[in-house]
Amino acid sequence: MRKSPEDFSRKLSRVPVCSLLIVVFIVALVACSGKKAEPPEASGHADPEKGSVQFNSASLPADSGPLPSVDASRAWKYTKEVTAFGARPVGSENHKKLEAYIHAHLKGIDVQDDDFVADTVEGKFPIHNIIAKFPGTKDGIIIIAGHYDTNYPFRNNGYVGANDGGSSTGLLLELAEQLRKEKPEGYTVWLLWTDGEEAMKDWTSTDSVYGTRHLAKAWEQDGTLKKIKAFIVEDMIGDADLNIDRDQSSAPWLEPVIYEAAKRLGEQSHFFHRELIVEDDHTPFVQLGVACADLIDFDYGYGNVFWHTPQDTMDKLSPRSLQIAGNVILETVSILNAMPAVPPR
Ligand SMILES: [Zn+2]
Repeated sequence: MRKSPEDFSRKLSRVPVCSLLIVVFIVALVACSGKKAEPPEASGHADPEKGSVQFNSASLPADSGPLPSVDASRAWKYTKEVTAFGARPVGSENHKKLEAYIHAHLKGIDVQDDDFVADTVEGKFPIHNIIAKFPGTKDGIIIIAGHYDTNYPFRNNGYVGANDGGSSTGLLLELAEQLRKEKPEGYTVWLLWTDGEEAMKDWTSTDSVYGTRHLAKAWEQDGTLKKIKAFIVEDMIGDADLNIDRDQSSAPWLEPVIYEAAKRLGEQSHFFHRELIVEDDHTPFVQLGVACADLIDFDYGYGNVFWHTPQDTMDKLSPRSLQIAGNVILETVSILNAMPAVPPR
């Protein structure tokens, strides 16, 4: 049975058992009041070109150089293989197998493991963030992140997280191939497979994003945080019907850059039709003042019906969506590299 928009809004406001907590609204559908943020302007559609008055796409450097072209079939293959491991919650055998799988694909790349034990509502669990580093020629780091764990509460119900966890992992592996082939001519790029993104029980600020909370704190202490020019999260970007939402907690100058990248690729119709406020892997970095963007399609099936259900399977996904997300991320990196200076958050 399909859920009505009203059902969806109630679900959003009442049950944040999620990989993300969507607080605010869907333009023209609902206007559920959030407990964590004020609603954005509740009228009409978002204007994707205007992130702020001072900064819009007109002030970006002119398009130059070839457009990126990720290998859609390889990204698809990776996503399929990752999903085939089955449920991959922290502490599980499948999770270990996937860690080994990711590491095996990063041979020859400078990889840093960020391992620690998280004290969670379900006990202590090992968390393993994986960071692949591609040194650039410019001072500063762009981080592209996505989670690879699936929900602990869904460890025994047939859940496989093809879109939620699978697509983000698979696309990052394809981006690693692209960056291996062509070294960054600009900022250093770090690809980050985050762990423990999902809540162990119910999503709260202390039961979620275990991996990125740990990294944000560690990087604040060792000075890495100051070098981060942009922190871009990709999550649930495999949906065949790709509509990437605009997250209002993201940096207001960075989303117009992403939209400009999408325009240059002719893919802008998949971006920013709807505005939300999202809690995701970027949240700990937003809180520390890093310029972040969360690229997420939080309308996975009508009213997001497939999200966090055993129906999150490969047949709902498309290689084309992985390709769109991957190309837009790489073109965003190119534009950031060409900008004379990247604004602070
Ligand atoms: Zn999730």
